[in-house]
Order: sequence, then structure tokens, then C-alpha cells
Amino acid sequence: MSEKIIHLLDTRTAARTAAVVPDLAIPATGRLDDTRGRAVRDLRISVTDRCNFRCVYCMPKSVFDKDYPYLARAELLSFEEIERIATLFVAHGVNKLRITGGEPLLRKNIEQLIERLARLPVEITLTTNGTLLPQKARALRDAGLTRVTVSLDAMDDDTFRRMNDVDFPVSQVLEGIDAAHAAGLMPIKVNMVVKRDTNDHAIVPMARHFKGSGHIVRFIEFMDVGSSNGWKMDEVLPSADVIARIHADMPLEPIGANYPGEVAQRWRHVDGSGEIGVISSVTQAFCSSCTRVRLSTEGKIYTCLFATEGHDLRALLRAGRSDADITSAIGAIWQARGDRYSEIRTADTAARRKIEMSYIGG
Ligand code: SAM
Repeated sequence: MSEKIIHLLDTRTAARTAAVVPDLAIPATGRLDDTRGRAVRDLRISVTDRCNFRCVYCMPKSVFDKDYPYLARAELLSFEEIERIATLFVAHGVNKLRITGGEPLLRKNIEQLIERLARLPVEITLTTNGTLLPQKARALRDAGLTRVTVSLDAMDDDTFRRMNDVDFPVSQVLEGIDAAHAAGLMPIKVNMVVKRDTNDHAIVPMARHFKGSGHIVRFIEFMDVGSSNGWKMDEVLPSADVIARIHADMPLEPIGANYPGEVAQRWRHVDGSGEIGVISSVTQAFCSSCTRVRLSTEGKIYTCLFATEGHDLRALLRAGRSDADITSAIGAIWQARGDRYSEIRTADTAARRKIEMSYIGG
């Protein structure tokens, strides 16, 4: 087995052995605070660790090749298990679910999961690379999906094909966006990860293309998630530069957040033709208002995107533990949370063995 795979398995084993779930009686009261007074509001659910893209900043081909040890089918949480965990999180105050991965539309019958989750009093969104939206948008909407976020890293084919590294053209992602629009999954957010000297020339064309469309482009700083994307601070283009470049071409003005803890900072075109957002996890950390928790493909809870360890809820589910026990475990995990990785990031922390984004969910 290659050293690379042993390293990745090591990372997973670390997560497995960290499955210490305290046995305290913590009932669900609809408001659960961590050690920094942050409530849990937003549950991100990864439904697969597989993807049909090999984006250079997320699942580089050199690591995610044919020998990569993806999770086996039996290791994945079933839809019943996901629904049960989501229900217990909602009782603790979660009001938004985001389905992600990997590429979530690769998970067979994903619309059946959406249908189950849509019975809960929450908003349900999904992040996708858009490739399967032409076939699936209508069924997702009918199942109860509220909105989609589509990732697209450039408007020109050369750059986009280089970023996704599977030779996928821009036009087919645009077809996916159109299909989502036609199905009523609105407003659509379009995520562009910005890597300096790789796709930063695509910022202004991207903003120009979607201006007036009703869709909201969000420019994301390249982050040091996982351990395989070779992250370097030099490759991060600060969001302030993104705004300055767009503003020089199409005047912008800042607008307030839609709700407390919103990840993106919002800006609108001064001529009233729409808005854009920037997500500045590296240069302007927003840990102090982070209300997000992540459920990995195999049922571990991660209280930070940059975590090195998770808490194994699947073990509790499959051991036949009661809802009260699992509710209590979730409460104990969140109450012990003190994460603020982006506030303490250094070159040293960036080199830690963190969980891959494709596994923990974007
Ligand atoms: N496959 C889906 C997609 O393409 O949107 C969902 C999973 S993907 C991991 C979720 C989001 O994370 C995407 O918008 C992707 O661009 C973003 N992402 C992945 N790696 C990133 C990194 N290193 N820095 C910033 N954003 C990243």
C-alpha cells in the first residue's frame, strides 16, 4: 500500500478512535451553546466521499486516483440514519440543512433523502458541481429541496477544465444552472474558489456574466482544508482584492447580512443589477459567529471544517442506542466545542493532518 494511502487511512483511524461520546443527560431544548456562546443552527451532511471532478484545490488527481480507499457502501450512513440524526439536531435548534459531499448528486436516489428531510421544519439546500442538474433538478425540487449552490471556477473553458481536471466544459455547468432555475430552485448561488495565478483572471468575467441574472456569485478564498491540496498562503487572493477588481469595472456597495452568522459578506451592484458575495475564511475569519456542524459520509460529527477528529454517531446508532442517548451525546459534543481554527491559522497549523473536504462535506 502506498505511503499516501496509509497516511489517509491514518487520518480516518484517528477519527475513529476519537469516538468518545460522553454519557450525560442533555435534553434537546432548541438552543444549545458551545463554550464560546455559539448556537448550533446549520447541519451540513456529506452523502458521498466520491466526486466526478478532480478539482485541483479539493480532490487532486495525484491523491484521489484509482487506488484511493473510498468508503465502502456499508460504511455510509443510510437515508434512515441520516434522517434520524438530522431530526435530533433540529430538536437542538438546527434550522438549515445542506446536502453536500463529494458530489451529492452521485448518491443513488438522493431525492428520496430530500423527501425524508423535507418533513422537518428546516430549509434544505444542496451544493453541487451542477453536472447532473439537467437530469435531477425537477425531481429534487419536487422532493422538497429549497435551493442549490453550484460550483463554477471560471467562465472560460481552458481555465475551468484545468481547475476541474476532468476536461469538463463550462457550457454543461451553465445548463445545470438553467435547469435549476427552470425547476424553481432559486435564488441560485454560484461558488467560485479563487486561487491566485490559477483562476483569478476569471473573477471579473464571472461577475459580469452573472450580473443581472438573479444568481449570486460568491468568491471563496482558497482554504487549507484537508491535507492533500498543497495549500500555500501565497495562493490566497484576499477577498478585499476580489471586491476591488470587480468594483473597478462594475461599481459595488456593501449590504448587510441576511441573518446572524451568514458566511458570505454581501455586496450589490450600484446600478441595482444584483449582488455578489465573498467568503473570506482566511483573511477575515468568522469563527466567532460559526454555527455550523458537519456530519461525515460515515456518520462522524465534526465541529469545524478544519478538524482533525470527529465523534462517531454511527456507532451509537448501530449499537441500538435510544434517541435520548444520541440527543445527549450531540449536546455534549456541541457544549464542549471551542473550535476557532481560522482565527489561529499559521503555516504550522496548515500542515496538520486535517479531514478531507470531500469526506467531511463542503
Ligand atoms: N461537489 C460539490 C461541489 O462541487 O460543489 C460539493 C462538495 S465541494 C467540497 C463544496 C464546495 O467546497 C465547493 O464550492 C468547492 O469549490 C469548495 N471547496 C473545496 N475545496 C476548497 C478549498 N480548498 N478552498 C475553498 N473552497 C473549497
